[in-house]
Amino acid sequence: MPIDPKLPYDTANIFARILRGELPCNKVYEDEHALAFHDIRPQAPVHVLVIPKDPFVSWDDFTAKGTDAQIAGFMRAVGTVTRQLELDAPGYRLMVNMGHDGHQEVPHLHVHIFGGRQFFQMIGD
Ligand code: AMP
Repeated sequence: MPIDPKLPYDTANIFARILRGELPCNKVYEDEHALAFHDIRPQAPVHVLVIPKDPFVSWDDFTAKGTDAQIAGFMRAVGTVTRQLELDAPGYRLMVNMGHDGHQEVPHLHVHIFGGRQFFQMIGD
């Protein structure tokens, strides 16, 4: 079920619980701004999620309320993860689902990194 992106941050969401160490994840990278881990239901040979450590519901929430340091640190972390995964030469796809129409299911901002094959469709169902 897609989330309502205008609701307040839900501290019980699954990614908040991963950040608090209450649930495990298959970690790829961590720094002061971000945590990256493998998606539990991968949709490509490489499917990694990068989440900010701070409590932002969505891309909309983050870009409206995040400080310049939070936004820069998170964006830098996404780039660092793609290079750590050695996707910078073959390339990759980034995706952020936002709210109901974007079919965002977890109410903590996450960037999907897809790689390991060539992607053709611009938008899928
Ligand atoms: P979205 O539709 O953009 O909100 O995507 C949520 C993503 O989170 C999906 O690709 C799920 O497979 C993934 N996901 C949900 N729970 C977990 C989890 N515990 N560990 C890793 N990935 C998860």
